Amino acid sequence: MKGLLEICYLIGSVTFIVGLKLMGNAKTARKGNLIGAFGMTIAILGTIFLHNTEHTSREFIKIVLIFGGIAIGTGIGWLTAKRVQMTKMPELVSMFNGMGGACAALIGLAEFKHNIGNTGALAFIMAGLVIGSISFAGSVIAYLKLSGKINKPIRLPKYNILNNVFFLIVAAFAIYLVISAETINPLLIWVLFVMACIYGVLFVFPIGGADMPVVISLLNSFTGLAAAFGGFLYDNKVMLTGGILVGSAGTLLTLAMCKAMNRPLSNVIFGAFGGGGGAAAASSEVDGNIKDIQVSDLAVMLNYSKKVVIVPGYGLAVAQAQHVIHELEKLLEERGVEVKYAIHPVAGRMPGHMNVLLAEANVEYDKLVEMEDINPEFEQTDVVLVVGANDVVNPAAKTDPSSPIYGMPILEVDKAKNIVVNKRSMNAGYAGIENLLFYNPKCSMFFGDAKKALTQLVAEIKQL
Ligand code: NDP
Repeated sequence: MKGLLEICYLIGSVTFIVGLKLMGNAKTARKGNLIGAFGMTIAILGTIFLHNTEHTSREFIKIVLIFGGIAIGTGIGWLTAKRVQMTKMPELVSMFNGMGGACAALIGLAEFKHNIGNTGALAFIMAGLVIGSISFAGSVIAYLKLSGKINKPIRLPKYNILNNVFFLIVAAFAIYLVISAETINPLLIWVLFVMACIYGVLFVFPIGGADMPVVISLLNSFTGLAAAFGGFLYDNKVMLTGGILVGSAGTLLTLAMCKAMNRPLSNVIFGAFGGGGGAAAASSEVDGNIKDIQVSDLAVMLNYSKKVVIVPGYGLAVAQAQHVIHELEKLLEERGVEVKYAIHPVAGRMPGHMNVLLAEANVEYDKLVEMEDINPEFEQTDVVLVVGANDVVNPAAKTDPSSPIYGMPILEVDKAKNIVVNKRSMNAGYAGIENLLFYNPKCSMFFGDAKKALTQLVAEIKQL
């Protein structure tokens, strides 16, 4: 039985790695997800039926309880994931991540008493409990911020020093519990749990609401680490592999997001960037005029272009305009126009947001061109149609050293022959700053909700 269980774990570990690899490409991502889920199912069933082979009524009750838990968890997870809107995906990931952290913390709470006397095991328990609790509490705050239930970064003076000191106290208390486990009241482990949760809250509370996707990715890597400690504790290879994969993938993703925004991680954690400044933060001292374009003129302009590049942004996701943009693309291609999509690495609110959104509308993956590859093409582009994007096309990133996005690589749409921007107003985007692109003489504003405006545009082009 033990050998069979090891084989189940091996299948689990290999499928996690293969699944993760396949998730690196939009075409194979769905398959990768299914392969990973299959491996996880094998590992779970193996653990339930092969780990303990006693046939007592106590064991039977345990198995019934486990399946009850699995049924409830699967039901809630399935329904939530089915119903969630694309724009709410970071919130969902945050909640699911929080549950992972809570599981790691519960392992610590349940196992502490049984491992008194075994210092090595207690060290793993403490590490998993502290990191899991931080991840759990932090993810709940991240969820509340993303859903707008908490919408202000709350900062005490010198909060970063206070937070670090508090973390040292939590760590010292965890070490004390390991060293003195045999002489203390085991219930003190609950005090550690509460303290680590408080630290999780303090850690995420001051961070600007709009920085949450980066923080969620960081918390995700914490959860992976906490699960890996569980793997050490139980000497369970699949838990260890899964935990390490989540931990390292989360860390890499966090760093990739920071790099794409050209901000160090310390600036995300201590910097209060994009904390809800919104339109209010947009400067009103801009010289120049904006001009708008009527739908009939835009239809003619696009219809008689040779090459059009569409820049999708967060607003496209908000408006759920992915299907109509695909319709526009097909219509223009039928008229002999070459159409491509320019994908900025941090367009939208989560990594790969635009890729997922456009894949949902069956846009061919080859039409999505990464920033480095599309930037040299803008000079030969007749019209760039920016739909609900703002920061990712803001020239201040290149020209204004005082701008919070200075240094962030952008889509250089100002090189195109004509620029048309669709958004609802002159409101700012995520970074809460003015965009001088809108005042560029080559730029026209096509105001309106992306879905409604593009639907009108498609109808207009059809009449030409
Ligand atoms: P922005 O958030 O900069 O701008 C989105 C624009 O969409 C707004 O200016 C808004 O203007 C417009 N908009 C909103 N709703 C609609 C609608 N219904 N129809 C038409 N337009 C609409 O988006 P970008 O994609 O350009 O930039 C993403 C930002 O998010 C970057 O700053 C990035 O750093 C940040 N970020 C991205 C992460 C990622 O992983 N992708 C993670 C964390 C942060 P208006 O209100 O006038 O309509």
